[in-house]
Amino acid sequence: DTLRKSLRTLKVKLVLLGSSGVGKSSLALRFSKDEFRRTSPTVGCAYLTRVVHLRNVTLRLEIWDTAGQEKYHSVTPLYYRGAQAALLVYDISKRETFIRAQVWLKELEKQYIPGSTVIWLVGNKGDLATHRQVSVEEGQSLANDRGLFFTEASALSGDQINELLLAIAHRVYECIG
Ligand code: GDP
Ligand code: MG
Repeated sequence: DTLRKSLRTLKVKLVLLGSSGVGKSSLALRFSKDEFRRTSPTVGCAYLTRVVHLRNVTLRLEIWDTAGQEKYHSVTPLYYRGAQAALLVYDISKRETFIRAQVWLKELEKQYIPGSTVIWLVGNKGDLATHRQVSVEEGQSLANDRGLFFTEASALSGDQINELLLAIAHRVYECIG
């Protein structure tokens, strides 16, 4: 039975949301291949994958990135339908992306069934602390108010990336496992 459990693989749909330029494609690439590129090509509609092994289950994460539609504020609900996890990304060095994240959140809350989607607020570009426009406390307090998880990370340096991925995997498994 233990063996059967350890062989179990669950498919998880994880979507990235947030304003253009916050680093969604860079995070997807970092999660999937542990790479960073200055010009991360946006993969239209497709997803990247990453396998995460937990104690008695394997999660196969399908990491969905937008094709840049967020520029026109028109990400279709089809994009995040059925997602077990949503990463709501802002750039800590650009306040407007933090404000915008709250609008994305409203949009997302209209669509998802509470309790079934793990929503994670991610303050990306943590390496740009000298240009910081959003404090850690503000990020944390928005997350607390709305019942979200919160992490500051950096797709560029890789800081907190694996920790974040593992934490998401654990939460998702708690929800669906
Ligand atoms: P997207 O539009 O949300 O997909 O954002 P991209 O992944 O295309 O990134 C936008 C720009 O921000 C690119 O020039 C990236 O190289 C840069 N970028 C992404 N992540 C980071 C990060 O963690 N730190 C810094 N300093 N720049 C980043
Ligand atoms: Mg992109």
